[in-house]
Amino acid sequence: MYGHLRRTLAPFRGLAHPGVVALFLAVPALILGAWSTAGEKPAIDFSSKHDILIRSEDGTLTPMDVPYFRATVVAPGTWQILSDGDYSYLVEGDDEALVIDSGYGAGNIREYCQSLTKKPVRNIANTHDHFDHTANNSYFERAYMSAETKKKATLPFPSFEGITFPRDYPIEVIGDGYRFQLGNRELEVFEIPNHASGSLAFLDKRERILFSGDEIMPMGVRLNCSVAQFEKNMRKIAARRSEYDTLCAGFGVFAASYMDKFLANARYILAGQEGEPVKPRPRPAAPAAAEGGPVTYSRRMPRPGDVPRNVGQTNEYLRTMTHAGCDITYDVRRIKD
Ligand SMILES: [Zn+2]
Repeated sequence: MYGHLRRTLAPFRGLAHPGVVALFLAVPALILGAWSTAGEKPAIDFSSKHDILIRSEDGTLTPMDVPYFRATVVAPGTWQILSDGDYSYLVEGDDEALVIDSGYGAGNIREYCQSLTKKPVRNIANTHDHFDHTANNSYFERAYMSAETKKKATLPFPSFEGITFPRDYPIEVIGDGYRFQLGNRELEVFEIPNHASGSLAFLDKRERILFSGDEIMPMGVRLNCSVAQFEKNMRKIAARRSEYDTLCAGFGVFAASYMDKFLANARYILAGQEGEPVKPRPRPAAPAAAEGGPVTYSRRMPRPGDVPRNVGQTNEYLRTMTHAGCDITYDVRRIKD
């Protein structure tokens, strides 16, 4: 799925970068001391979920309270992190490294990311509020997010009942035009609200990546906003299309051409074309616990009890437009604002 971008992580790969060793040696001990604070944030206790198992893609089973992390290098100084929930990303500049989204897996994702880079990992940036992107924010010194995301971040999904996730971590609200300065690497912020009302995308011109959260999904997009608002979102990031080739999304790494397809599809609907009525789809089945066996979830995939009630439901107003190589599901009453 990730083509040539997907490569196995080489241990201490960052040390191979020109100049990194010299920079590392030059770092004052005072800063080295600050790095060690990554492990001092209170651990989130998953032990009440020890009897629930998580099945990984290779079929192995891991108790839900046992940390599980895997990293894949997707570009120089850029890692995709698999734990549980949607993917996170680690973005390394010359001065510091930033984590994008914190997943909902057990364990200290900040400590894990710090094991991948010699640059200090202090902060987290959230693409949107959903729990599979914000559960572990409290491990970081500061969380950057939109004002809308701040209202709902780190509110647990039902399958996490019984675990306490701190919500009192320091937050800095950001929006359009904000720039993260990581040292010879800048991430520019764009507000693109649809999947979630506070969604942000982060443009990394150095590695030509747009970190797009859950806003652009190759399997199709369901609009929570008007078609006109969605077109406006796509147009906003299309205006910078010459500056990125890759989407690093919550669901995986994709070619940025998907963004072009959704823009073309939205414009087709706005031009007066109408999609097909939406047929109801079965909701995901409850997890198997046959004959008293353990409840087992699939790693990274949505859990049945956590899926919003409206998923799979339809009504007389919903249409799916298949055009330009992608699907947009929308409400005929919400074409224009
Ligand atoms: Zn989401």
